[in-house]
Amino acid sequence: MTKTITCRLLQVGTAFCLLWMMTNAQARQASLQEQAQQIAQKYMLVDTHIDVPYRVQDAWVDVTQRTDDGDFDFPRAVQGGLNLTFMSIYTPAELEAEGGSFELAHQLIDSVEALAARAPDKFALVRSVADAEKAMKDGRIGLAMGMENGSPINHDLKNIRVFADRGIRYITLTHSLSNQISDSSYDDNHQWNGLSPFGREVVAEMNRNGVMVDISHVSDDAFWQALEVTRVPVIASHSSARHFTPGFERNMSDEMIVALAKNGGVIQINWGSSFLTAQANEYSTAYWELEKNWLEENGLEEGGPEARKFREDYREEHSYPYATLADVVDHFDHVIKIAGIDHVGIGSDYDGVGDSLPAGLKDVSAYPNLVAEFLQRGYTEQDIASILGGNLLRVWSEVEAYAGAQRSCLPGFCLP
Ligand SMILES: [Zn+2]
Repeated sequence: MTKTITCRLLQVGTAFCLLWMMTNAQARQASLQEQAQQIAQKYMLVDTHIDVPYRVQDAWVDVTQRTDDGDFDFPRAVQGGLNLTFMSIYTPAELEAEGGSFELAHQLIDSVEALAARAPDKFALVRSVADAEKAMKDGRIGLAMGMENGSPINHDLKNIRVFADRGIRYITLTHSLSNQISDSSYDDNHQWNGLSPFGREVVAEMNRNGVMVDISHVSDDAFWQALEVTRVPVIASHSSARHFTPGFERNMSDEMIVALAKNGGVIQINWGSSFLTAQANEYSTAYWELEKNWLEENGLEEGGPEARKFREDYREEHSYPYATLADVVDHFDHVIKIAGIDHVGIGSDYDGVGDSLPAGLKDVSAYPNLVAEFLQRGYTEQDIASILGGNLLRVWSEVEAYAGAQRSCLPGFCLP
């Protein structure tokens, strides 16, 4: 409107006026993108869930260099302004019964250590908030570790110390099946109606050892019980808002998000499309059901070449309803509306959600696009800094401080 009036005042022709308006909009977009780039580089940018260890375990590639496939490598991470990532030490749910998750977790931790050791000028292992800040100052990408699935604890509380000593700084209590610690949002078998008795001890022991409690993947009952037991804020390392995906228990309901905020915690938004829109969620549910039945009928293994081909054919016939960058930011908006600016961050699930990422957020070079959308929606630089990393670092600091205080305590007596 204003522009049209300006054009009339200037008495210029319609074509010229349109061109002028377009150039103006492009210039605004370019300056927004530039500002976003600067903000992404300036502030600590943390992503709490990237599945590189499993990706390189399956098919090794050198992520210290630009890779053709996958969502993460060093050059793209630098471009995106990433400073700290929690590498996911993921063990499949089935290993709880079969055995081997303890060993696999150690093996994956070895691989993260090897990656950092092989490129010490690019990556730094991070065990504390201070380490993360130092890595950023040195211009290296910080690699922290989060254990996805508590199954490697192997029914022994002492193993929490063992893995904490190796650098694990959060543990996702369970994954896709109910395990020794907790029921899962993906599993109808709610054997514990929440946390197991051992799971309650695990949460307390994680508090004592400075390991953040991650409630992504757990059932709703388990979430509420974890909040009762924990003495410090908890995180959801890669979950989104259930408000947009009704009935999808893997995401968090409004009530849970508000309670998480009251506990001081943070929800790190997952960028997989099925976590973001009801349409993509329904597509995935329908597809997985179909694939499961087809594999069963044909006596085939999950994840094998036949399954891959089946998926490709299905995608050809039924185009995938990718979510958009705006959908992602809608999740941030929603959490901020109900819980405030201090309780949300990034848990992209890069290298973990396959070909389901929204356009504009396809890999770790894309964080500035998220920032640009925040700017477009009127977020201040300080708000954005909180979202990018400030909130997560606050939680981690509190968890560290609590564990530190516990260490200076003898039974019935605390050192000053
Ligand atoms: Zn996950």
